[in-house]
Amino acid sequence: MNRSIFLLLVTSMLVALSSCQTAKKKEQSRPNILYIMSDDHGYQAISAYDKRYINTPNIDRIANEGIIFTNSFVSNSICGPSRAVLLTGKHSNMNGYKVNSGAFDGSQQTFPKLLQKAGYQTAMIGKWHLKSDPTGFDYWNILPGQGAYYNPDFIEMGKKTRHEGYAPFVTTYIALDWLENKRDKSKPFCMLLHHKAVHRTWEPDTSTFAEFTGKQFPVPDNYFDDYATREAAAAQKMSIRKPDMDIAYDLKMEYDGTKSRFKWFRTHTGRMNAEQKARWDAHYKQVQKEFMEKGLKGKEYELWKYQRYMQDYLACVRSLDESIGEVLDYLDKHGLADNTIVIYTSDQGFYMGEHGWFDKRFMYEQSMRTPLVMRYPGHIKPGSRCNKLVQNIDYAPTFLDLAGVKIPDDIQGISLTPLWEEKDPKWRDALYYHYYEFPNEHMVKRHYGIRTKRYKLIHFYYDIDEWEFFDLEKDPEEMVNEYDDPAYADVVKDLKERLEKLQVQYQDTDRSTY
Ligand code: CA
Repeated sequence: MNRSIFLLLVTSMLVALSSCQTAKKKEQSRPNILYIMSDDHGYQAISAYDKRYINTPNIDRIANEGIIFTNSFVSNSICGPSRAVLLTGKHSNMNGYKVNSGAFDGSQQTFPKLLQKAGYQTAMIGKWHLKSDPTGFDYWNILPGQGAYYNPDFIEMGKKTRHEGYAPFVTTYIALDWLENKRDKSKPFCMLLHHKAVHRTWEPDTSTFAEFTGKQFPVPDNYFDDYATREAAAAQKMSIRKPDMDIAYDLKMEYDGTKSRFKWFRTHTGRMNAEQKARWDAHYKQVQKEFMEKGLKGKEYELWKYQRYMQDYLACVRSLDESIGEVLDYLDKHGLADNTIVIYTSDQGFYMGEHGWFDKRFMYEQSMRTPLVMRYPGHIKPGSRCNKLVQNIDYAPTFLDLAGVKIPDDIQGISLTPLWEEKDPKWRDALYYHYYEFPNEHMVKRHYGIRTKRYKLIHFYYDIDEWEFFDLEKDPEEMVNEYDDPAYADVVKDLKERLEKLQVQYQDTDRSTY
């Protein structure tokens, strides 16, 4: 062999070796994705967003060590449809899951399937709520339907098992067990950890009673909203003040430990073990005794209901936040924190008494907004804040982008990565929203609309034809519908045109299916 051929061979061997090492390094550096999503957790009940009600040190830790999105929204504020949007990166009209009934078509393209194809280990743990079995996951262990707070059943790849304990901690235990014992550790993972908490009927862990019993919270200024100028808002059935929030079903009164007006409630307290039940009964019997002694009427009674609701809701948030702390500790202890992207969000926002309400559905601020915080050490600078308009259609493309997987053209969201990688990225200036579930529970009328940084235009339709317009700078609580104010005529006209463009862009123009 002459010298030049020898050198050529050595060089090509070195190049091959080097590219092999690069491939190996690339595999090791592909980030894990840990997506934690709760149910009905309003941003008002996270101290990184709002310090009035509760301190949530663990969720705040994700925000402090990463980025907080202060203008994060959903496209259809209801449980199942929001989950379908997450999986597909598409609005409800495109993924086919518009309302909480029927079953999600699991044969369609989802981001876990694409990650799985790209070599990720994928897992889905906790609340699924899409009726059809999960697809695109190497491992799944889900709550049936809404699931139970106490000693919940889980379905592990088709096999049902009862787990002793409180739902957020049981769900976390199952997730950590998969990370520790069940996954293929040679591959990066993507895990969806979906909590049942803090969904109605807000059944707190008995360990939280001491902190929240009798605690009083600031009442929103518009708790006694009269809904003047807003016809659809007046027609809803989701008022804390009215029997929509039930004294027994929601607030656990009229309950003597064995009887309740609600079979559902009996079923749930019936799941408790003797110790849980004894603590539960002791607590609620005392709360009920004090309530009966007060004999409240009128506004006093309506304000008592607000406090009773908040005490149980926030107690559930307490356990949820603690369970997230357990996950963060696990990542730290097992050397996974640096290469794992952690996301925390909720399937939508929730009312904490604003407009007198609980629940969600409306395009108004508290339910269209959803919390979103992310941590990615070495990539997202700690303490980052982003006020750009982001939406849950963006999650799927973001995760694909972070994993180095091509984002399919039919995905409607946009990867969020430029928001921390670039100084001032070009970004969307409006969001589209569409809610379909009427007539149904809480009677929130069908509506669609557009939200920009400053304005919101909503069209309620089906059994009503009402437009609402709000200048959020002037009226952040959305109390006065100024659709007919001539001073805003040009703004409204412009928003209508932009709304129509968004409907074309998102292919949501077929009114016959409404
Ligand atoms: Ca929900």
